[in-house]
Amino acid sequence: MIRNIGIAAHIDAGKTTLTERILYFTGTTYKIGEVHNGEAVMDYLSQEKERGITITSAVTTVKWKNNSINIVDTPGHVDFTVEVERCMRVMDGAVVVLCGVGGVEPQTETVWYQVNKFKIPRIIFVNKLDRIGADFDRVIKEIQEQLSITPIPLTYPIGKEKEFKGIYDILNRKAVFYSEDNFEILEEDLNNEEYEFVDNLRNKIIENLSDFDIDLMEKFLDEKEITNRDIYNALKSAALQMKVTPVFAGSALKNKGIQHLIDGIIDFLPSPSEVENIEGFNIKTGMKEPVKLIDKDFLGYVFKVQIIDKRKICFVRIYSGEVKVGENIINLTTKNKNKVSKIFRIHADKKKEIDFCKNGDVVGMLLKDVETGDTITKREKFQYILEKIEVANPVISLAIEPYSIREQEQLLEALQFLSLEDPSFQYQFDDEVNQIIISGMGELHLEIIVNRIFEEYGLKVKTGKPQVVYRETVTKSGFSENEYEVKIEDDSFYGFVGLEVEPLERSGKDNSNIIEFDLKEDSILNKVKGFIEEGIEESLASGILTGCPIIDTKVTIKKASDKTGKYEKAAFKVAALNAFKDAYTKASPVKLEPVMDVVILTPEEYTGDIIGELNSKKGKILNIVTEENISKIICNVYLSSLFGFTTTLRSLSKGKANFSMKFKCYDIL
Ligand code: GDP
Repeated sequence: MIRNIGIAAHIDAGKTTLTERILYFTGTTYKIGEVHNGEAVMDYLSQEKERGITITSAVTTVKWKNNSINIVDTPGHVDFTVEVERCMRVMDGAVVVLCGVGGVEPQTETVWYQVNKFKIPRIIFVNKLDRIGADFDRVIKEIQEQLSITPIPLTYPIGKEKEFKGIYDILNRKAVFYSEDNFEILEEDLNNEEYEFVDNLRNKIIENLSDFDIDLMEKFLDEKEITNRDIYNALKSAALQMKVTPVFAGSALKNKGIQHLIDGIIDFLPSPSEVENIEGFNIKTGMKEPVKLIDKDFLGYVFKVQIIDKRKICFVRIYSGEVKVGENIINLTTKNKNKVSKIFRIHADKKKEIDFCKNGDVVGMLLKDVETGDTITKREKFQYILEKIEVANPVISLAIEPYSIREQEQLLEALQFLSLEDPSFQYQFDDEVNQIIISGMGELHLEIIVNRIFEEYGLKVKTGKPQVVYRETVTKSGFSENEYEVKIEDDSFYGFVGLEVEPLERSGKDNSNIIEFDLKEDSILNKVKGFIEEGIEESLASGILTGCPIIDTKVTIKKASDKTGKYEKAAFKVAALNAFKDAYTKASPVKLEPVMDVVILTPEEYTGDIIGELNSKKGKILNIVTEENISKIICNVYLSSLFGFTTTLRSLSKGKANFSMKFKCYDIL
């Protein structure tokens, strides 16, 4: 059986440590046998920590009790929406990690509701129960109140904080401890007092589940014996319907509770066959509908492209059928045919070649001409295409150059690889001025890219100041016409275009322009429509104030004529370009700035100073919520005011506040 899961957590809850432990306890990182030779596991683990083995790949496969678990890498930063979306698309279940001290923090809620949006069933791991201040009962209460779901704890900590030494397995009514090397689970019977306590917890589970399961309720009311099987079945069904969430207690760092959590992944998260039908766009009608598969048609979705050892590996989720090495597949997005030259399963940092993959698998493939978001099949007439991942246009750019001009080529190659992996990152090389401009979703995004250029490609670069990528629009209507006529030798070319430019309601989004034709004489339309459109689209791509794209603008072509009868493309295109430029100037164009949705988390005492700072930046405060001395400030701020905001915030809050942002819209400053 397969499980495709992701591990979601806010930064610092222990996602990395937990992932490492899962790799370790499933024997993926080291062969378990090797570890037993008198060497303390903790030493091994600390070495492992030093070597920093975590998932560096888009997916890694681990084996557990005859099952395969594919762990899809989830981004640590909730802002990178493209990354979040691409990994949510391919996972069927999630483990949400909470800190036993911090409990449900505002960032946890963000992560939780993101997973909710994709309707992904999940289980919770309450981590760090060995830390001072950890309180399992309090966290359970917070889950109930703040995440609006019924938590069902299946394990419970034995001992608090430093004394945390094992867990109660509630359903089996056993105490669970660990051998010194952490590998063996030592189960002990409960004494009378403990039995009563744990039996109560077990009854609580039955009581809670009875609300969602009629069979269980009847047995409960009739006081019939309820077996663990009854409870598993009821719990799985309620968990898959996202009515309840199984919860596990533990400490990743101290290797406690991990095996029960992995059992929980198998027991309570869905296998691919338990997931509801997938949706796709019907190519004929353009409508979104459940995909109908004929005879186990092969269908795969490329959710990530990664460059590993300079080779482009496509990570593919297989939704149905199977494919073998050497077979041809069709990229439905581009209609290109491609040979599957290799298929890999990835275990931590090792790749293993396999001959074929099938429904439910998540694997790496060597494929040409395939990008993130593409749908692949084996049948040319396949009727559906899965939804592309929406990529917002970059809002920030900066110039970079290598320290040594000799490294220019290598830098351009690195940038090409990075942009292949991350569709929200772009770069341009202007060879006239010999300058490279990189652009992305925010300062942090570009900072990470510059870091990766150094760490993964060994290149040091100098960077310029970040620049906002603007948009332009018009504020009133403007009309103009242009007659373009040239004589080349004995030939003459002619095109005449008249058009109106007017503002649309402000959407603040890209792809919001409308081009319409309203010609008195229609006969010319078919002959020149494409030429005029090309000229206008070129004009809209680069406004005259900043050279940045124009949005929220309607262009209506009202006149078009030709007196030579040649309908020459260049002549109509140039006439359209000229007419647009003049009409646009008359329509009072303005510059639009990116506005960001900003969320700041700060200890309450610094709220006043931070709000003062936001006001001076023309920020619009939308909401402030304070709970247990932590304030969450939600506001909109122009991106240009946010340069260097990390430093300002740090100094205003003695380093205690942090913020995240994402693009909202473009507006006039
Ligand atoms: P991530 O940001 O969610 O990936 O968190 P990490 O796994 O990097 O953990 C953040 C910090 O918490 C690190 O210093 C870990 O050593 C520590 N940590 C993780 N799990 C535990 C735990 O169970 N107990 C304690 N005391 N510390 C932990």
